Amino acid sequence: LPSPPLKAAVVFGGSRGIGAAIARRLAHEGYAVALTYASRADKADEVVQSIQADGGMAIALQADSTDAGAIAAAVSDAAARFGRLHVAVVNAGIYEGSPLEQFPLDMLDRMLAINVRGVFLAVQAAASRMADGGSIITIGSNTAARSGVVGSSVYAMSKAAVATLVRELALDLAPRQITINNIQPGPVETDITTGFLDYLIERNPLKRVGRPEEVAALAAFLSSADARYMTGASLTVDGGYSI
Ligand code: NDP
Repeated sequence: LPSPPLKAAVVFGGSRGIGAAIARRLAHEGYAVALTYASRADKADEVVQSIQADGGMAIALQADSTDAGAIAAAVSDAAARFGRLHVAVVNAGIYEGSPLEQFPLDMLDRMLAINVRGVFLAVQAAASRMADGGSIITIGSNTAARSGVVGSSVYAMSKAAVATLVRELALDLAPRQITINNIQPGPVETDITTGFLDYLIERNPLKRVGRPEEVAALAAFLSSADARYMTGASLTVDGGYSI
């Protein structure tokens, strides 16, 4: 018998950290994966090669979250290559922090542009190429509830905006049976947390930080047939950090 056609997934910000783990996990689940990156083409290629070495299908596409045209072009390239999308994961995001007195305005603008406007653009572009019944997943942060870290106000605000955006977009997408959910990780060992690990481990009830694969596992569930009745939700995976 011919094998069934692959389903297609796009992972925005799939070159490193949590996004790379999600791209690998979705490929393992049988999706053809288009992953985007901003500047680290080398890291994106590493992820593509490791997926291909495991017998999966993947391509890397450059698309900065601040560039609406680049996001639309990446989604259209992914759809041209793999067909209509079934899963879109909007992971691309940055953390920058500063106490209020010194908080630079360009830092605020950058975080809102990537963590909020970029998420909206990616969801809008992906939905336009998505098969009815597909799944959209955003990566927010447990700081949407509280960060407990001085200088994180704007980052936390940007992630709270993602949680609200997802809850309300669920209504827009529901008529097409497209679900959208938001994963709110706590400390995970990636380039973002380099230099803070001891502090984060000490403050976490489970006395460790998470692995990117532990976030990818939740993304795999949310994109599976078992999660079809979930939409508009924000789910925290943080080792109890925000308790
Ligand atoms: P990393 O810094 O390891 O990876 C960030 C990813 O996002 C990379 O693929 C990067 O691409 C991409 N990216 C960054 N800026 C842009 C941009 N302007 N346009 C397009 N892509 C971009 O981060 P993490 O894996 O740690 O974080 C991933 C997500 O998880 C973020 O949204 C973050 O806020 C969230 N998060 C992380 C936590 C943690 O403890 N690590 C905790 C809670 C939430 P490139 O490689 O090209 O730079």
